[in-house]
Amino acid sequence: MSAPVAGPEIERLVQLLSKLPGLGPRSARRAVLHLVRKRIELLSPLADAMQIAVERIVICDACGNIDTCQPCTICIDPRRDNSTIIVVESVGDLWALERAGAMRARYHVLGGTLSPLDGVGPKDLHIDALITRCADEQVKEVILAVNATVDGQTTAHYITDLLSHFSLKVTRLAHGVPVGGELDYLDEGTLSAAMRQRTAM
Ligand code: ZN
Repeated sequence: MSAPVAGPEIERLVQLLSKLPGLGPRSARRAVLHLVRKRIELLSPLADAMQIAVERIVICDACGNIDTCQPCTICIDPRRDNSTIIVVESVGDLWALERAGAMRARYHVLGGTLSPLDGVGPKDLHIDALITRCADEQVKEVILAVNATVDGQTTAHYITDLLSHFSLKVTRLAHGVPVGGELDYLDEGTLSAAMRQRTAM
């Protein structure tokens, strides 16, 4: 291991930032240098924002989203459609769907996927809370927006079975050709799914 080039406070900053996804020790060191150079404009407001986040961030009791209010901003938004719940694995997926802006519905964050190999069972996910929400007669459709992985699809089938005795529609995201995608570069699984789920022009 190389000798430290700065005092323990700065080395600690580097060490903490290097734990962030996408940042290794070298890029963390660059980020710290940048923050130190911009101490007033960037480092200080960032520290304040982080302190506020530490104090105020909560997990929404209703949907599992993270926010600074309880219930979360999405759950209390009156412009959203109460009859549709979009089920996602993580808050990151919720944010991704919100960026796409495709639907103004409610969400339910599972907190992962069923994974027998990793010892993740139904009790480890927020599935019971989803079923309770679906018992509300306002809910007409549940969209399973889980990842197209083996665990994601196992989870989707499990939830579909649990919801089979409710009078609501259970749908899942289409699998297929990405927007701007070229057929030649796609794997066989994606191509055959896209062919099976073709739509009329
Ligand atoms: Zn919520």
